[in-house]
Amino acid sequence: MIEIPKAESLLEMFSLKGKVVIVTGASGPRGMGIEAARGCAEMGADLAITYASRPEGGEKNAKELAEKYGVKVKAYKCDVGSFESVDTLVKDSKDTQVIKEFGKVDAFIANAGRTADSGILEGSVEAWNEVIQTDLNGTFHCAKAVGAHFKERGTGSLVITASMSGHIANFPQEQTSYNVAKAGCIHMAKSLANEWRDFARVNTISPGYIDTGLSDFVAKETQDLWKSMIPMGRNGDAKELKGAYVYLVSDASTYTTGSDILIDGGYCAR
Ligand code: NDP
Repeated sequence: MIEIPKAESLLEMFSLKGKVVIVTGASGPRGMGIEAARGCAEMGADLAITYASRPEGGEKNAKELAEKYGVKVKAYKCDVGSFESVDTLVKDSKDTQVIKEFGKVDAFIANAGRTADSGILEGSVEAWNEVIQTDLNGTFHCAKAVGAHFKERGTGSLVITASMSGHIANFPQEQTSYNVAKAGCIHMAKSLANEWRDFARVNTISPGYIDTGLSDFVAKETQDLWKSMIPMGRNGDAKELKGAYVYLVSDASTYTTGSDILIDGGYCAR
């Protein structure tokens, strides 16, 4: 059973000193991954961060985190679309991997993701499969790779970056594959919250439109239309989400599981 934390002070509950956190997809200069990692490092966690196509971004971010916050940080290459790649990242079967290097994993932030325009009629089967493979199957691969370790230790927190698009269908951009993948992530967290109830917590964070570069390929008119539909009148900055990641990783959230934190400037509240 996941116990009530012994700490009484809020600062102690939020402290991540002594914890080891994996963050996938932390190679961007201003993405959710690097901001989640910054939040965890600031609260004292050691970190394994991953990149896929931008090794220089991953290494640069690892150096920045280690120097600024004085914690241990290593960058690893990982393709979440491959179970073998995520399993190799986590397990101690190879000298360089996270459990071998850090001794344990307390939390896994499954953040890596991609998007593509792929309405059912216009999009290709390949485009559909690519998004589902990274965003939905990739999240499953992360859960499967770390779940046994959480069970063995009797503790763990899996935090999944889902999306507002898992709640509402993105419009007018046709991103059905992405919407479906993110809705699947939200339900995966609810299902896993039950499956893992005795030893680990599983939650999602659903960002709205956040300026990270992910949607730069979308036409300006569409981006302006999206902005006009946000009650707060602006896109979010990834640093406005890092507190939520820290909360879900930390002992401040020991009674939170199967939950989704929607951070969208009020978009879904309209
Ligand atoms: P970023 O481009 O900064 O982050 C995407 C990250 O995912 C990169 O680090 C990228 O690595 C990694 N990645 C992509 N494909 C793979 C793969 N197959 N295996 C491993 N890593 C991979 O953009 P965001 O910060 O915006 O995106 C982070 C998450 O937030 C995603 O899950 C996204 O869907 C979600 N999100 C974003 C929103 C937004 O408005 N920006 C809104 C809602 C959700 P590399 O660059 O090295 O290839």
